[in-house]
Amino acid sequence: MEPLTNWAGNITFGARQVLRPRTLDEAREQIAAATKLRVLGSGHSFNHLADTDGDLLSLAGLPRTVEIAPDRATVRVDGGIRYGDLAARLHAEGLALHNMASLPHISVAGAVATATHGSGVGNGNLATAVAGVEIVRADGELVTLTRGDADFPGSVAALGALGAVVALTLDVQPAFELRQYVYETLPATSVRANLPLILADGYSVSLFTRWTGIDVDQVWLKRREPMTGPEFHGATLADGPRHPVPGMPAENCTQQGGVPGPWHERLPHFRMEFTPSSGEELQSEWHVPLSRANDALDAVAQIRERVADVLQVSEIRTIAADDLWLSPNYQRDSLALHFTWIADTEAVLPVVADVEKVLAPLDPRPHLGKIFTSAPELPRVADFTALAGRFDPTGKFRNDFLDRLLG
Ligand SMILES: Cc1cc2nc3c(=O)[nH]c(=O)nc-3n(C[C@H](O)[C@H](O)[C@H](O)COP(=O)(O)OP(=O)(O)OC[C@H]3O[C@@H](n4cnc5c(N)ncnc54)[C@H](O)[C@@H]3O)c2cc1C
Repeated sequence: MEPLTNWAGNITFGARQVLRPRTLDEAREQIAAATKLRVLGSGHSFNHLADTDGDLLSLAGLPRTVEIAPDRATVRVDGGIRYGDLAARLHAEGLALHNMASLPHISVAGAVATATHGSGVGNGNLATAVAGVEIVRADGELVTLTRGDADFPGSVAALGALGAVVALTLDVQPAFELRQYVYETLPATSVRANLPLILADGYSVSLFTRWTGIDVDQVWLKRREPMTGPEFHGATLADGPRHPVPGMPAENCTQQGGVPGPWHERLPHFRMEFTPSSGEELQSEWHVPLSRANDALDAVAQIRERVADVLQVSEIRTIAADDLWLSPNYQRDSLALHFTWIADTEAVLPVVADVEKVLAPLDPRPHLGKIFTSAPELPRVADFTALAGRFDPTGKFRNDFLDRLLG
């Protein structure tokens, strides 16, 4: 077998083989028969979370399922579908998801497993849209949990530790339009004085900075209403399309300039038609309480030269609180500080540790699909470990990464 890597190429999986079932029954048999197994989504995580020295199971070959409920409030999808494909199908039916991540190529089940998020003070992470989850346990049994079940908050953002998610039911809403605007050079004085206002001035707001100076390089606003002027808290409307990394070509980015368009062609930063097979980058991200947003910016600014040295760009986003046990947003409205690093693990890791050190007083929670070095305290880890023990008594779905994380 060719060595199999994640999307970024920084992880080579240690699996003996990749199982690719074409039906649910085949998946159940393969899971029951395996001694060690991890489910692989679209491989967009940056660490050993999906790795195993047993078998990898890919659900990409399951029959594509997009079943809209008669009341049009939910959709049931299979465990291998990607957001971009689902979004196009939903939009054609006049429906929408509440939010999307920066890239539409990521699998829904994989994104939900790590509580992947977009931005917006009123928007929970993507796992909060889950109303039901169908999991094949270690013994091959199919278990369905729905919102309201006692174990449900532990079974959604579950890191693949409970079993293979073969289907998900997601909340949907009527399709809506958004306009995307990019403003450049937001002065530090405005950031400090008006951060809560700035972050709330759109359905989804992202700030991009390279930590090289005192300013935010770009503000990306995704809004239902048009903007009224060329100025935003001292930042200036871009005179053409922009890439989040200043100077990079913008043709792969979703349409800007305030042109109204469907939700799924504005919420991600990158277009679905552009398919990056691998990426020259690494990523880390930490979530801190939104109420400490300025403290978090001050903390990273203390080491801005160290960070800037190995950084492509940072993105600052917001996420509404939820009740999912392993979610970084568990019971706390959050500010997420994201770092797209250069593709040099050796150079990046010491800086990751430095960022963790300066953020430590703010109780940071890492994105569990990205690079971190600390041993994070997960909100409801004891409850989760007990739940995982019931679904997987022999530790079939465990790996070293989960052993370190869950104890
Ligand atoms: C270019 C890029 C952009 C990104 N943008 C964002 C962003 O905007 N916001 C954000 O929060 N994150 C972002 N991420 C991180 C990414 O969303 C997460 O790492 C996500 O978990 C990746 O999903 P995946 O399908 O690739 O999962 P994988 O990396 O393949 O697996 C991740 C975890 O999900 C589990 N899993 C996958 N499928 C299943 C299944 N069917 N059943 C059970 N467990 C399963 C795996 O076992 C593993 O534990 C980005 C990553 C990249 C590379």
